[in-house]
Amino acid sequence: MPIYEFECPKCSMNVTKLCRVGADGGEIECPRCRVFGLKRKLSRFASPGTGGGNACGTCSATSCGSCRNTGDV
Ligand SMILES: [Zn+2]
Repeated sequence: MPIYEFECPKCSMNVTKLCRVGADGGEIECPRCRVFGLKRKLSRFASPGTGGGNACGTCSATSCGSCRNTGDV
């Protein structure tokens, strides 16, 4: 599962959550003020075709064993 970063619209706290693909934050609860509906920030993982950063530092792709381990806690 991917790790997404969310931001609380109320207290602006950053929350990093492991959640299912496509989660939009509506079901994520802010640990500080207990508000639901956090805003999802850009994924830490590069999407195919975007040419963004790598998920792991040991390969130039995003699908090696280390990459998978990173997203599968
Ligand atoms: Zn909050």
